This record gives sequence, structure tokens and C-alpha cells, in this order.
Amino acid sequence: MNPEDFKQQAMATISDNPLDRISAKVTQMMTHPDTVFDIHCHIFDKYCVTKNYFLLRLLGKLDPDKKLDDLLDHIINLKKDNEFDELFEIMQKENMGQVLEHYLQNFACQQNIITIPLMMDLDEGWYFKADKSQKDQIKELKELMQNKAILPFLSVDPRKAQKQGNNNLYKLFLEAFTPDANNNQFFGIKVYPALGYLPSDIWLWHIYEVCEAKKIPVVAHCGGSLIKSYQNGYDLYGYQIDDNGDIVSLRHYLNIQNGNKRAAFFNDPKHWEVVLKQFPKLKLNLGHFGGIDHWLNLAKTGRDQNIETINRLMAYENVYADFSYNIAVKESFDVFFENYDNNITIRNKAMYGTDCWMVLAAGDFKKNHAKFIQRCGPRKEKLMRENPMMYLFGQII
Ligand SMILES: [Zn+2]
Repeated sequence: MNPEDFKQQAMATISDNPLDRISAKVTQMMTHPDTVFDIHCHIFDKYCVTKNYFLLRLLGKLDPDKKLDDLLDHIINLKKDNEFDELFEIMQKENMGQVLEHYLQNFACQQNIITIPLMMDLDEGWYFKADKSQKDQIKELKELMQNKAILPFLSVDPRKAQKQGNNNLYKLFLEAFTPDANNNQFFGIKVYPALGYLPSDIWLWHIYEVCEAKKIPVVAHCGGSLIKSYQNGYDLYGYQIDDNGDIVSLRHYLNIQNGNKRAAFFNDPKHWEVVLKQFPKLKLNLGHFGGIDHWLNLAKTGRDQNIETINRLMAYENVYADFSYNIAVKESFDVFFENYDNNITIRNKAMYGTDCWMVLAAGDFKKNHAKFIQRCGPRKEKLMRENPMMYLFGQII
């Protein structure tokens, strides 16, 4: 589908009021004054990803770039029996509804919660086709909206812009944002640059234009480098800000041999600068607020470049950052709360999220999640309710 046709159709059919996109279940859930939002969560089942995805999750930082001896050391020293069991349970679930139910029963911080499930699309980054197509996943999530208070986010990959048929990026977008027979539709989109593209990718430009105009929130992975593309040595086409401050096109040859360094390059929040210069009203959540390593670095050295970049970008009216995943590590949320208390931008723009079930193999999630919630105290109102509502709806309801 050609981008101009896409834009024309999207502008004509999608409402610019986010409240038109919420389901009856979400409306009902919002009537409870204590309802909170898990702004970053995943409920995809084994048919939506690959077995390699589960293996990577199980083995944590087991990276193919490491030497064999280092890998063996790492495996021998693993002591993660409990987390393994938790992941095996997810692998046994037959559909996304079961995964969501498992989350709500075992990991959600309270009963009155609105969950924001983000899709994952490894088709292009991993040269892999999931058993369940993106189109079928979209349909399943819309059906789930009928019974559960969720606001689904569509995974977008610019490499699908030139695909023919149902797997075309723009077709998938329109599919997601077209109401089904029960009037259920998607709420936002997810961008995952570490899978091998720039946030300013030329094909995403058209998507952002629609998202800004229609107040569709975007979330970007902006944290750890575990899930990434293993491809290297190709041209990236996007946009950049030149020395005069103008937005010009960018052709960048990607040549970073080390996989983690390559992922760190893609995850760097600085790439969002040009996107926000072009689309200053875009609703953007920089997911994971830089990630655990950067918060630990801040704790250790007193400064961190990625976190500083995110703080700077949050000066844009609609830019937020969620602290999901990081809550699995106590040292990282200790320093987060310290910054939260001393920084008005963080207080107004940071959001709570779990990153379940990705986070289950990251550390002692259950224990540290409970500690995080306890430490939140009166901060809960902003982190878990007001800031998410401002990001999602542009108002506190
Ligand atoms: Zn995530």
C-alpha cells in the first residue's frame, strides 16, 4: 500500500479523540477511583514468537557474541530455577487470553487495573515468521477487549512498508485501527528500533504523521539490548537534524560488529530528537526509561547520558518514559525514586509498567515488584494513574 493512500484513508477514518478508541470494559474499569494502569505489558503467546525467543529469555544475557568459555561459565553459574518455572508456565498457555489471565492472577499489583499489552513482531528482525500472523494477532486482541480492560498497542516494523498483501505495514495499521463488529479497535503503536531500524526511518514518518494528528500514542523500546537484530552491514534510511537545525534525509551505513553495541546504538534516545522536531505534539513513551544499566550507571557515577537525553526530550509536551522492567532490580528503583523526588519533569512524566512477562527471568520480579509498589506510597497517584492518563487520553478522567 502506498503511503499517500494510507495517510488519506487513515486521516479520513480514524477519530482524533482517544476516548473513541476505548472499550466498554475500560470505561467501566475507569469508574473505580483506585484503578491503575500497567502501561507496558506483554501477553503474546508462544505462537506469536519463536522458540528461540523463549530460549533467549531463559538464558538471559547469553549472547552469541560472547566467547564459548564465557558462555559456559555463565550457564554453570545460573541460579534461576524459579524464573525458569514461571517462563515454562507462560509457554504452556494456548492463547493470549490465557496469558493475560495468568498475569492478572499472579503478577498484577491489584484487581482494578487497565493493562496495556504491546505486540511483538520478530518477522523482519529475526527472519522469522510466527505461526500466528500479525493479522490474526490483531483480531485476537480485539476480541479480548470485549471481556478484559486492555488497550492494545500494534507492533510496527518499517521493513513491512513495501510488503504485498496482508503483511503490509500500512494495511496492518488500518486493520488494527478499524473497529470490529463489537466496536473494538487498537489504541497505540509500538516501535522496537533494536530489531534493526532507526526511530526516524523514512517509512515510519508517515505513521508518525497519522499518530500525531489522531493522538495515537507511540511507545518505543528504549532499554536493554537482549532482544535485537543480528543483522549488520546495510544502509539505514531516515532523517537527521543538520548543523543549521534543519531536518534533512539521512543515509547511514550500519557497521557495528558487536551485537550489544549495535542494539545500544539503536536504543539511544537521541535518535528521537529529529522525530520530535518534526512531530512536536507526538505522544511518545520512551519505554524502560533507558534501562537498568543506565540507572545503575547513574547511581554509580552521578550522571548518565541516555537518562539525561530522555529528561531533555520530556520537555516536549507529550513525551513520557515508563520505568517497566527496571522494577525487577532494587538498586535501579532506589535511584529512580531519588530522582523522582527531586525532579519535577520526572514526577510529571514517569509512568509505572511491569514489562510482564519479559521481566520474569530478569531477577526476583515478584519480591522486588512488591517492594516497588510499597516504596511508591503517595507517588502511586501520579506514576500509576495521572501520568498514564495524560499520556493515553491527554486528560485526567
Ligand atoms: Zn517490553
